[in-house]
Amino acid sequence: MIFDSITELGHEQVVFCTDRETGLRAIIAVHNSTLGMLQPTGVRASLGGTRRRFYPSEEAALQDALRLSEGMTYKSAGAELELGGAKSVVLLNSKEEEKNPTEREAVAMGKAIQRLSGRYVAAEDMNVTVQYVDWMAEVTKYVIGGKTRVAGGDPSPYTATGIVNAIKGGLAYANGSDSLAGVTIAIQGLGSVGDKVARMTAAQGAKLVITDTRKGLVDKVVADIGATAVNPDDIISVECDVLCPCAIGQVINDNTIDGLNCRIVAPGANNVLDKPFEHAAALKSKGIVYCPDFINNAGGVIQLGGLYIGLSMDEINAKIERIKPRLIEILKTAESMPSTYDAAISYAKARIDAGVQRGQDGPSAEGRVGSSTAAHAVEGI
Ligand code: NAD
Repeated sequence: MIFDSITELGHEQVVFCTDRETGLRAIIAVHNSTLGMLQPTGVRASLGGTRRRFYPSEEAALQDALRLSEGMTYKSAGAELELGGAKSVVLLNSKEEEKNPTEREAVAMGKAIQRLSGRYVAAEDMNVTVQYVDWMAEVTKYVIGGKTRVAGGDPSPYTATGIVNAIKGGLAYANGSDSLAGVTIAIQGLGSVGDKVARMTAAQGAKLVITDTRKGLVDKVVADIGATAVNPDDIISVECDVLCPCAIGQVINDNTIDGLNCRIVAPGANNVLDKPFEHAAALKSKGIVYCPDFINNAGGVIQLGGLYIGLSMDEINAKIERIKPRLIEILKTAESMPSTYDAAISYAKARIDAGVQRGQDGPSAEGRVGSSTAAHAVEGI
């Protein structure tokens, strides 16, 4: 069954890691390294965050690593980065451990990453902080997103900038103008990403409707920029030009999709469509422009991945600017396809196929990415 899952999604390598001293249990999944920068060790680099979680089962942890690493392949390929897609998960013994990472655990994880000689490059994800990245960096150079030992830090300002570019791309496509002046944007979630998107769009004249389950965050944004607050349950169906979910995944699903009252959906969060191909096609048939999440929110991976592969900050910022024209191109291509999600996945796969044609490493004899149409989006960067 393990090999069936891995083969279906087209993974190159899945590694199960343990450490006797600390009790570490972790899985590193390298999905596709075709586009990855060649490391001095002769392998190609694949980037993806390290997630720490108390999983209900080992099977759940494996599935998380497999689907998230596949999503990272498409996110990096879609962002035209010289990186493949990978992800790692640390299986914790209790929920309490999620908020209490230790240096011992991080160092054990760093050693496991180092043993892959650069095929896998780690970064922040759920319950992995900048500090944890720096701890891992004590024993491996294959990490990015720290503060003291390794560069990068918190990627959310770059993610937010990319999302604002995507919102403008969606508006340019739908309205013929990318102006935010007088445009109503509804934002779900005011954490690291949503708060910044709110402030940046308000500064350019957008009218904001906002929500968060943490009332303090809502009150602060209302006080600072004068947004209209609504209840968390009401945000998805609020009347607006652009709906920008920046909280959790699967918020557009069979129960919510008919209630949408917007012209454009431009998510910052990952996996906002519960069934990506089906729900993206349904949005198209309703005349709603769906800007695919992994294209919009690639700013963070562009920043961290860009630093890792040696891009300058000017090159990184230029790549984040490119999110807007790339999105417009994808939206236009999608006119003759079932959905904008199909168009975005095709865009990413075409880049990987071009890498295979150039003779770069591939996951199989043909080097094609998994044959399944169930492409998974990513969480984290
Ligand atoms: P965060 O945890 O800082 O913020 C999420 C916010 O959403 C929190 O304030 C939380 O209270 C709120 N929230 C949760 N459930 C909610 C609900 N039902 N209704 C309203 N608010 C709710 O996370 P973040 O870093 O801002 O990331 C947000 C999303 O963007 C996540 O899906 C993340 O995977 C994705 N993402 C983040 C980055 C990044 O650079 N941080 C990069 C790419 C994608």
